[in-house]
Amino acid sequence: MTIIAFIGLGNMGLPMARNLVAAGHDVRGFDLSADSLEKLETAGGTPASSAASAVAGADVVVTMLPAGKHVRSVYDESVFPNAAAGTLFVDCSTIDVDTARAVASDASAKGFAMLDAPVSGGTGGAEAGTLTFMVGGEDAAFAQARPLLDIMGATVVHAGASGSGQAAKICNNMVLGISMIAVSEAFALADKLGLDRQKLFDISSKSSGQCWAMTSYCPVPGPVPTSPANRDYLPGFSAAMMLKDLDLAQQAAESAKATTPMGRKAADFYAAFVEEGHGALDFSAVFKKLRGN
Ligand code: NAD
Repeated sequence: MTIIAFIGLGNMGLPMARNLVAAGHDVRGFDLSADSLEKLETAGGTPASSAASAVAGADVVVTMLPAGKHVRSVYDESVFPNAAAGTLFVDCSTIDVDTARAVASDASAKGFAMLDAPVSGGTGGAEAGTLTFMVGGEDAAFAQARPLLDIMGATVVHAGASGSGQAAKICNNMVLGISMIAVSEAFALADKLGLDRQKLFDISSKSSGQCWAMTSYCPVPGPVPTSPANRDYLPGFSAAMMLKDLDLAQQAAESAKATTPMGRKAADFYAAFVEEGHGALDFSAVFKKLRGN
């Protein structure tokens, strides 16, 4: 049994922590929300009164926080000063590559190993323990974390050195954002040309336009019954979350001096969509904007 401090018990963190509890680990959780703490307790975990008290005495600290600034402050203020020697840190939040590398480097300077281990698979994957983990950091730390990641996920990939997990996550989601706009544009054009949506799907899903946004998450109702388009674009993965990841990709591209013109356009497109008040819809709802209804 491992003593785990779990900080950030939101939509993703709470079910991940529950899976660790169910696997027999001693999970001491902290979140700013009292409601989340109660839910952890109901699941058999131990609510802590602060991040600092959760961290004291833990073997592993797992964080699942909104953004880089939260990760930076939680590690600086609560984790570094209270962790016992040898504690392993695993940050599962999706944050910018520069902050991930900087916090891991500070951890290393204090003698701690730290992994960036962002996930894909959404809240459904978090509940079911079928997340995909993309992990950056040292081999030994990865080997130590692996049994816990295997409880929360179905696929665990060591992507490389510190920051590589975040790099993999934003590169993947940049492909997804761009391809969702492309597929949505194609269906909107097909509508205007009088081409039946199902016919376009039947052809394109077996032709060179085939991609995940088309075949697994089709942005029009009908062809893929499980896609959010069939339930009024309830997320799924919200447009606001997609915008966050596209912005992180742009930040990384700027920092690395990479040229990502389509990534830039996709970020601008989602920014406008969110500004128009659609941030809570699934990201595939951009089809409606392109269709003009
Ligand atoms: P969320 O907003 O539901 O949860 C974040 C939690 O962190 C909240 O409960 C908040 O109270 C808590 N928190 C914030 N500051 C804190 C602090 N200082 N101390 C303790 N708790 C604090 O967000 P989420 O959907 O669970 O996402 C978490 C991370 O996972 C994000 O980085 C997100 O980008 C990423 N992610 C989310 C999804 C998804 O589908 N929701 C999928 C993949 C990755």
